[in-house]
Amino acid sequence: MHIPFLDLKAQYTQIEKYLLPDLKEAMANGAFVGGPRVEQFESEFAAFCDSKWCAGVSSGTDALRFALMACGVGPGDEVITVPNTFIATCEAISQAGARPVFVDIDPQTCNIDPGAVRERLTEKTRAVVPVHLYGQPADMDPLLKLAREHDLIVIEDACQAHGALYRERKAGSMGAAGCFSFYPGKNLGAFGEGGAVVTQDREIAARIRMLRDHGQQEKYIHQVEGYNGRLDAIQAIVLSAKLRKLADWNRARRANAQRYDELLSKIPGVAPVEEAPYSRSVYHLYVILVDRRDELQRFLAEKGIATGLHYPMPLHLQQAYAHLGYKKGDFPVAEKAADRLLSLPMFPELTEEQAEYVVQSIQDFFN
Ligand SMILES: *Cc1c(COP(=O)(O)O)cnc(C)c1O
Repeated sequence: MHIPFLDLKAQYTQIEKYLLPDLKEAMANGAFVGGPRVEQFESEFAAFCDSKWCAGVSSGTDALRFALMACGVGPGDEVITVPNTFIATCEAISQAGARPVFVDIDPQTCNIDPGAVRERLTEKTRAVVPVHLYGQPADMDPLLKLAREHDLIVIEDACQAHGALYRERKAGSMGAAGCFSFYPGKNLGAFGEGGAVVTQDREIAARIRMLRDHGQQEKYIHQVEGYNGRLDAIQAIVLSAKLRKLADWNRARRANAQRYDELLSKIPGVAPVEEAPYSRSVYHLYVILVDRRDELQRFLAEKGIATGLHYPMPLHLQQAYAHLGYKKGDFPVAEKAADRLLSLPMFPELTEEQAEYVVQSIQDFFN
């Protein structure tokens, strides 16, 4: 049996019928940048996220960078985040001009530890960027409380968490801004690059719209120097089509995760990343923690099972961030997780038979 890590073809066949006529029309009309289809998607996605505003941008990385800048984060500021995330979280902080500061994670959820954030606050701390890793919201209430007490800005990295819930609140709707990626493999993926920022704050949305479009609100009148960071119309059409399916797809992912949980509970030594009682993950990834991870990954590859590592080297140990002065041992929980994590095949169309084969193969390895 061959089991892919994710299956974008299965998604495409479900939306092809109502997507193609829309794409044809857009191509015939020649409206590729901005326009009504981008605005339509923005209002649909804002509603999906229980947020007042949405600004489509060209990637999740730009979403994070623009959100930080629109909230006034810049040179001289420290921004706290985690070392076990995709590098884009940290790039956005640096490229906004601020200094990334890392804190360790909770060993069960692999999300930011709010207690560790409190310990790392300084005079310069301006913002916190919790990452809703693997599709599971970080523990937001303590972070939001801390933010109120210390006048901090919370920017949610929800790039893996479209539709996830934290105590009935949508991922992305709780901080000053929530940032999403529509990279093809994300739960909501474009046919290329794309991203969005959602916010309850009209001013923040307006600043992001300016930043993504060369700092202009009116054509050729530039209030600030901005960027070329817009969402294009073709991607907006694809995203609107897929958004209609997203709740179903997320439900299917949760059902698959539950099946994995049950099957894996019989194998000692395999610990899935836990879903906290306050969250409803959308399982962008299904991640287990195991010893002899590299051996297991090779074994599964031989059995035709594709797996992934998210992420094998924490950011504080990357050469790109050597100048921040961290060393091995600074974040023991994140470092230990990096050596033990393994992402199993996860997509809505994963069948019962496939999940059973994956778990049986893991069982065979440990026997
Ligand atoms: C995918 C991702 C990003 C970046 O999104 P892009 O669209 O690839 O720029 C940022 N943060 C996290 C946690 C991600 O998974």
